[in-house]
Amino acid sequence: MMGYSHSVSAAAAWLALVETDIIPVQSPQILLVTALTCAGAGMLPDIDHKNGTIAHSIPPVSSIVSAVVSSLSGGHRKGTHSLVGLIFFWAVAILAERLTYQGIPWASLLITAYMGGLALRTFGAPGGWLGAIGLGFLAWHTDSLAMTPLAIGVGATVHVIGDFLTTRGVNPAWPLTLKAPTSSRFWKKSGYFALPLLGDAGSKREMVLTSALSLYILWFALALGGIVDYPAASWEHLLTPAK
Ligand SMILES: [Zn+2]
Repeated sequence: MMGYSHSVSAAAAWLALVETDIIPVQSPQILLVTALTCAGAGMLPDIDHKNGTIAHSIPPVSSIVSAVVSSLSGGHRKGTHSLVGLIFFWAVAILAERLTYQGIPWASLLITAYMGGLALRTFGAPGGWLGAIGLGFLAWHTDSLAMTPLAIGVGATVHVIGDFLTTRGVNPAWPLTLKAPTSSRFWKKSGYFALPLLGDAGSKREMVLTSALSLYILWFALALGGIVDYPAASWEHLLTPAK
């Protein structure tokens, strides 16, 4: 999956979890911060790719961090795309939230602003990293930071699921290799698992899915503005026969 598709699918998943009350969010401002944090985290596992969005985001720091993560995690689509990687990202976000200096969790603030800023840039919002600074302020003033670990965890998990739906697949058991007795599209001798519904990364099918999820996000945004019913509420209405 491409970076843009990963971000859109992570944001859509977050909104769906909020809409179905699985994740309670207290205000539209917190929803904005957390959805953008989750959208940015949707690209996080690809920090292991030297040509990825994250590696190019704030050079040279981001490219150095990317190279270090890539060598520690065994290369692209290995450690950062496994259960170990997902637990690591989530644990870093939790630790960042607990680390405070003079009462302010600076690390968590930085992670939230960076992830949200990355999403804004990916979605083509004007203003460059100014959006990230604005988002940092909003996160701090709305007490959104407590939700950052969850947003990071959901975003990174949706990324791995997205790559699992492509031809190449992922190895969730890394550093272990669960070799298939006979190689197939679903379980390969390399230990990679896939449900290749989307075909290769960047395929037409991926574009169709991303467009549909973008429409869902747009619908949700209009509902937030009171212009239309929420998507799930609308489906309920369609499924209930008129009296
Ligand atoms: Zn990936």
